Amino acid sequence: MENKVVAPAENGLMKKIVSHAKEYGFVFPSSEIYDGLQAVYDYGQMGVELKNNIKTVWYKAMTQLNDNIVGIDAAIFMHPLTWKASGHIDGFSDPMIDNKDSKKRYRADVLVEERAAQMEAAGKKDEADALVKKLARLLEADDLKGVQDLITNEKITCPVSGTANWTEVRQFNLMFSTQVGSVAEDASTIYLRPETAQGIFVNFLNVQKTGRMKIPFGIAQIGKAFRNEIVARQFTFRMREFEQMEMQFFIRPGTEMEWYKKWKESRLNWHKAIGLPAEKLKFHDHEKLAHYANAAVDIEFEFPFGFKEMEGIHSRTDFDLGNHQELSKKKQQYFDNDIDEATGKPYGNYVPYVVETSVGADRCFLAVLCNAYTEEVTGEGENQKERVYLKLHPTLAPIKAAILPITKKDGLPEKAMEIYNELKYDIKVTYEDKDSIGKRYTRNDLIGTPFCIAVDHQTLEDNTVTIRHRDSMEQERVPISELRLKIRKETSWRTILEKV
Ligand code: ATP
Repeated sequence: MENKVVAPAENGLMKKIVSHAKEYGFVFPSSEIYDGLQAVYDYGQMGVELKNNIKTVWYKAMTQLNDNIVGIDAAIFMHPLTWKASGHIDGFSDPMIDNKDSKKRYRADVLVEERAAQMEAAGKKDEADALVKKLARLLEADDLKGVQDLITNEKITCPVSGTANWTEVRQFNLMFSTQVGSVAEDASTIYLRPETAQGIFVNFLNVQKTGRMKIPFGIAQIGKAFRNEIVARQFTFRMREFEQMEMQFFIRPGTEMEWYKKWKESRLNWHKAIGLPAEKLKFHDHEKLAHYANAAVDIEFEFPFGFKEMEGIHSRTDFDLGNHQELSKKKQQYFDNDIDEATGKPYGNYVPYVVETSVGADRCFLAVLCNAYTEEVTGEGENQKERVYLKLHPTLAPIKAAILPITKKDGLPEKAMEIYNELKYDIKVTYEDKDSIGKRYTRNDLIGTPFCIAVDHQTLEDNTVTIRHRDSMEQERVPISELRLKIRKETSWRTILEKV
């Protein structure tokens, strides 16, 4: 346990976003009254709404837009052999190194990568590239001594102590373990799942049989995953407890490239549909493929600290199901009675191949937040003001509309409450009557509320209200009777789903 939550900011903008997230109830450091727990965060009253909206629109895009994709909710704890089959017990580790003076632990590969980045910044691109290539070769050969020599030769020092007094490089498994069973002798080690995918693989046949699913079909799941990350920073980008939104798509062997292409495109569209701009998104093909994959790509988003992975799309072949079949001794096969044109016979029994899409809910949340954070100068001369607001997609916004009586008297609060009570069944709305109307607009801008509904004296006369639009700050007069439809039109799931 570290004793201080370090603002994980890499630059000024990130710092502002982190403090905005805290100040307006989006993200708090975990157990902050005890000075926090590094790389663990809590979502506040606004954050939970935004994150839930992101999760909902992902789940709907998967399970409502595709009638061959169904959801599950598997447990976090799984039989320990699961992680043997998946390769996590033997291979889910990072090379780490400790500085003996500062007692700080680092990822050895990250230290070398940072040195390469410094070289590049100093105009030595060729040297930097050579260093990165050398590192990749050593890691591939599992040559930890070689990585250590690289750190020594490059004279890399600890940023805290400034010394090169390093331990040797060791592999550090990223899984958290705990014990099940009440009596110590009988207890056995189990793990907090490091990915949600395996909960889907072990349920493949349950779902296929009970749902009478025909290949190709998918299983989608949202859930917590845990990794004991050594380098934990950049806010909710790298957490030790986080949420994944994963979908495993089961297909006939040989068709994987076609599906891989389809899912790449469809997932990029989803990110654009939730409001992330095309120029801040890019594909990054994996140069070095994991042993189980025959194609892999990341969708990267341009965070204030650079383009970084937000989602992975992997063609995983029959690696997982094949290993589960071997270790569990239970057949993980599917009988395909479609006719193979080449042979004129049914395809028959096989272990399906899988294309998976795996996106971090917290990284996606961070991308949406960073993209929405807007500083704008309005007005001219003496009236010039700086305005900060969250330009969130209206469907994702924590609050869709704030109902605001312009004063606290003359029956306006009662009329505003009437509107609130009418809308609340369909739309996430709030009622606020404290402070001036200007301050209330500002507060709502800061949390990204797309519509402020002002209730004034004219409302009492003709049942109309003013809608103030967050981004343009323009106001329009509309009848109360049209409010519901108008807000729903711009905040419905459909606004996103029809673009996926
Ligand atoms: P990285 O290389 O950044 O560690 P990864 O390649 O190990 O990520 P995957 O195992 O492919 O990540 O996991 C799929 C997704 O889960 C990632 O694209 C990311 O959005 C999310 N994710 C992974 N690790 C974390 C983490 N520590 N904190 C938050 N999200 C994470």
